[in-house]
Amino acid sequence: MEVDFKGTPELGFFASRLDDVVGWARQYSIFQYPFVTACCGMEYMATACAHYDVDRFGAGLPRFSPRQADVLFVVGTISQKIAPVLVNVYQQMCAPKWVVAFGVCTCTGGFYDNYATVRGIDHVIPVDVYIPGCPPRPETVLQGLMMLQEKIRKEKQEL
Ligand code: SF4
Repeated sequence: MEVDFKGTPELGFFASRLDDVVGWARQYSIFQYPFVTACCGMEYMATACAHYDVDRFGAGLPRFSPRQADVLFVVGTISQKIAPVLVNVYQQMCAPKWVVAFGVCTCTGGFYDNYATVRGIDHVIPVDVYIPGCPPRPETVLQGLMMLQEKIRKEKQEL
């Protein structure tokens, strides 16, 4: 719901504080949907293990239904054949939603320079954070996760 504060600027203060509170809460309640297609999945699982403790970022519980997830982690090579499935999963997620491209294959197609590979998932769905690497180290994944949290926190919330 969009609220119009024209004529009552003093209420804008409460709206911006509400934005801050909702943004803060959302950044620590990330429910990720892992769309895993290739070898990057190993590093995704390594990051999810206790050693790196993604629970401290509020992102420890993956969801395997797009309707229950708000962050789509696309992990691995996306072929032209699987791309419509990815788009379908993205469309089933409720707003607000975000997308992370995990690994260079997902970001750009990587070294799969051929007709069968999507040359970056941003050709088919919007991407919020790109995590480079082949595969990315867990430390890089955590950095990407923190960048996403920052983005979520700063977003103007639609209530
Ligand atoms: S970026 Fe490297 S590790 Fe990840 S899916 Fe592509 S080839 Fe595999």
